[in-house]
Amino acid sequence: MPNKCPNCDNDADISKTNKFRPFCSEKCKLIDFGAWATEKFKIPGNHNGSEYDENL
Ligand SMILES: [Zn+2]
Repeated sequence: MPNKCPNCDNDADISKTNKFRPFCSEKCKLIDFGAWATEKFKIPGNHNGSEYDENL
């Protein structure tokens, strides 16, 4: 059964030999982690001087 990389939807090897599983590559793993970290910093009330919030 084919396993898809959660990041890019390419086939991913989820065997033990793939240390980036369930991602297909280190790149996808890092990208996904980056997205997760970004989400974590989007906490309401946590303003970092962003002009974005001023326009909302
Ligand atoms: Zn991928």
